[in-house]
Parts: sequence; C-alpha cells; structure tokens
Amino acid sequence: MALLEEPIKEVLKLKNYINGEWVESKGEIRDVVNPVTGKIIARVPISTKDEIDATVAAAQEAYPDWRRTAPVARARYLFRLKELLEENFDEVSRIQTQEHGKTIDESRGETRRGIENVEVACGIPTLMQGPYSEDIAPGIDEWIIRQPLGVFGIIGPFNFPFMIPLWSAPYALATGNCIIIKPSSEVPNSQTRLAELADEAGFPPGVWNVVHGGRTVVNGMLDHPGIKGIAFVGSTPTAKFIYKSCGATGKRVIAQGGAKNYMVIMPDCNVRATIPALMTSFFGNAGQRCLSGANLVIVGEDDGFYNKFMDGVADTAAKIIIGNGLDEAVQMGPVRDEEKKTRIMGYIESGIQQGAKIRLDGRKELKIHGDWPDKCFLGPTILESVTPDMKCSSEEIFGPVMSVMRAKNLDEAIEMCNNCSFANAHAIFTSSGKNAREFQYRVVSGNIGINIGVVAPMAWFPFSGMKDSFFGVLHTQGQEAIRFFTESKVVIQRWI
Ligand code: NAD
Repeated sequence: MALLEEPIKEVLKLKNYINGEWVESKGEIRDVVNPVTGKIIARVPISTKDEIDATVAAAQEAYPDWRRTAPVARARYLFRLKELLEENFDEVSRIQTQEHGKTIDESRGETRRGIENVEVACGIPTLMQGPYSEDIAPGIDEWIIRQPLGVFGIIGPFNFPFMIPLWSAPYALATGNCIIIKPSSEVPNSQTRLAELADEAGFPPGVWNVVHGGRTVVNGMLDHPGIKGIAFVGSTPTAKFIYKSCGATGKRVIAQGGAKNYMVIMPDCNVRATIPALMTSFFGNAGQRCLSGANLVIVGEDDGFYNKFMDGVADTAAKIIIGNGLDEAVQMGPVRDEEKKTRIMGYIESGIQQGAKIRLDGRKELKIHGDWPDKCFLGPTILESVTPDMKCSSEEIFGPVMSVMRAKNLDEAIEMCNNCSFANAHAIFTSSGKNAREFQYRVVSGNIGINIGVVAPMAWFPFSGMKDSFFGVLHTQGQEAIRFFTESKVVIQRWI
C-alpha cells in the first residue's frame, strides 16, 4: 500500500541554486500547500532583483568555459543526469503529485516525458552539426556553424512543474548555454529536486541555476542585457507580455500561451476507443493541461447518435474516481488551489446563466475517495447545448469542464475550430481518412490529433502552437530547440 501522506518532519525551506551553491533568499517567503491534504509542504522565497542580477553574473562567468567544453563532453553531464533521474524516478514523481495534485500515474508520465528531452539532447554532437557546401564557386566553400549565445531564462507554469522546463533546459545546456530556471512559485519543489540531481550530475557551477519567485525575477530577466533569450510557458496574457518585452530589448523568445482545444466527433468514429480517450483528454490532470479537451463538438444531425454517445460520455465521466493522486486507484486529483476552483466554478455558472444545460455537475455530484478535506476537489462537469459565443466555450477554463456543442457537418466543425482565438491542439475522431485529412489540412492549430485526445509531441518533435497559443517562431523540444539556443554563423572560404 502506497504511503498517502509523507511524514513531514519539517517543512522544506527552499533555497535558490546559484553558482553551484544553495543560497537562502532575502525575499518574502510564501507557503506551498498540498492541494489534497491542505498541509504546508514547503516555503518558497520570492527572490529579489539583486538576487537575479547576481545569478545572471554567475551564469555569465560560467559561460565561456562551458561553451568551450566539447559537445560530446557536455552530453556526458546529461547522460549522468538521465541516470540519476531514472534512479530517482519514483521520488521525483511523488513530489509532483504532492505539489500539484495530479495522480501518481500522470506524474510518472510527466517524469518520463521530461527524461525523454534529456535523452534527445544527449545526441548533441550530431544535432549541432551544420551543413556544408563544397564549391559554391570554383575553389570556394561555404558552411554553417551553430554557436551558443550565453545565458537563457526558462520560466515555467504551474501545471507541469517538472517537465516543462525540460522542454528547453537540456537543449540550452547541450548547445553550450547557461540557464536560469524560474519555476512557478505555486509548485517549486520538483524543480528544486531536479537542481539537486543536476548538482549531483556535476554540472560546473553557474551553468544550471534556479531562482524562485514571481514577477520581480521575470522582469529582472527581461530587463537584463546579459540574458540572451527567454523560453516561457504559461497563460496567454503573460506570454504576450513576455513576447513584447523580449521584442523591445532584442532577446530571442519562445512564448507558449493558453489553449481552448476542440475535440470533433464524427458519427463514424470508433465509439469504444473514443470515449476513454475523451476522459483522459478532458479530465486528466483535472483538465489543467494546455492539451486538454475543452469543447466537444458532435457532428451530424442524428439525435440518436448524439444521445447514445453523450450517455456513454456522461456515464463514464461520472465513474471517475477522485481523490489523493498518491492512491493508485485514483483517476483524478484536485485542481491546484481553492482560487482556481472558484474561478472554474464561475465558468460553470456563467455557462448555465448563458443557456447551457448541466448534464454532470462536478460541484455537487462529488464523491471523494478517502478522507480528504473537500477544498480543491471538483468532479468532471459536462455542459450541453453550449454555443460558441458563451464564455465557457470561448475562454480558457483550465479545469475539468466539457462544453458540448453540435455542428451540422465537418465544414461547420472546422469553422468552429478556426474561429477560436487559441490554436494549440484540436483533434478529430473518425474512421474516415478523408475526414482526417480534411481536418489536418484546414484546421489552424499547432498540434492536430487524429483519434488522439492528448496531442503531446514527443521530445524530438517541436511543441507547436498557433494564434493566441504561441508567440515566436521556433519551438521548444528537438531540432527547433537546438536552432533556438544557437546562432547560425555562415563561413565562406577561399584559399588562393
Ligand atoms: P501564468 O502565466 O500565470 O504563469 C506562468 C509563469 O509566469 C509563472 O512562472 C509565473 O510566476 C510567471 N508570471 C505570471 N504572471 C506574470 C507577470 N504578470 N509577469 C511576469 N511573470 C509572470 O500561467 P500558469 O497559471 O502558471 O499556467 C497555466 C497556463 O499555462 C494555462 O494558460 C495553460 O494553457 C498554459 N500552458 C501552456 C502550455 C503550452 O505548451 N502552450 C503548456 C502548459 C501550460
């Protein structure tokens, strides 16, 4: 039987990791609360401008030697980190569940996806090679070399506290840059543990740094001329702000924003496979994924299909086991905090006020598995008769809420997807190749799912996004991250 509550002897007082040392911050201290138990599990500092300035200085000092370290030797640090992550896989996953509330299985998935980015970046000796053309004119050759830029800031959101900084960090480091990670101060524990493992892996002091905090740290990075670029993931308003600020100061930037994903159901879909996929999509991670389904669009005017399909969806959703994510039987954890729960409930209420019908009410029909305080739990919720103009179908809710709409045909469903201001991960469920191709071809979305409810690109593919879901050009993960974290220098050579 898994331990459902750690015997917390002493609340962790988190420190910053600067220049290879654990340094106490002079900033204000905030509590980190486990959303299941309501207990304080850590205290996180909100670091000051002086502290971020000192970190940038340390990273700048570490940069020249790190840059000169051969890529194959830099990769060895990542190989060692990968080994340590495997050895500590269970502990790292448990930390995520405790700080965030997601189920232990979801945390294991998150740990695995994070490690995969470390694995891909281990291929840096070949990933970083540039192309070469001999004889662009007689006796003249031309080639590209990829060079690191210096110090990068990596800013993470609350919903994937461990994995998301790893969409960038291994590539930034492998290409020869130094990094400063600012985790979400809501969930700072797993990044602290990751930095401990990076320390054990032996990265030279100043190469990998972590500074906890909020806006002061972010603004300190944005204003600092020593920071060459920012990889940001979070909500759309913050992403827009980061993108604009980086434009103003000439920093390169990846700014991944929010989402409102459409799951389009064709009457020819495989219903038995589709319903479980929808459960994971809408209610996995308590709906707090940028890849979560938000709007369900059922195509066709056949009421028989609609009713049968929705009966299946509602019955399955009502059976989801909610509780402490450390319990292996639990399928859905709480949302991250009470404030988020209140916000989500506001959207449910607004949907009802605007004419939606509540089919499954997660506010009321909520059975918590185990004896946990009913603070941050919210059951799967289904709103039917939703229209695209409602707040619940057009704004990001970021919770376990499914808004159900109908479309006459595929054309109308595609139009609904394309009218959405977000474009992160729309998906179609169908058994027709023609429908699938049409959807992939016409829908504007960074990631497209075909019979896939959580369209999560593997580490060697870019994590894409369009419209209000992404600001920038190159993306995190894989080859695009290698390009983002390097300058392309062109050399043309003639020897007479
Ligand atoms: P958020 O924008 O509130 O915070 C993200 C980070 O920015 C945090 O580290 C936070 O401390 C910092 N921050 C917040 N406001 C700031 C401000 N005004 N100035 C400077 N820094 C600020 O996002 P969140 O609530 O932590 O995360 C959830 C959001 O992230 C959702 O919108 C979700 O869709 C999005 N998300 C997107 C992706 C993607 O790949 N596109 C992935 C995961 C999450």
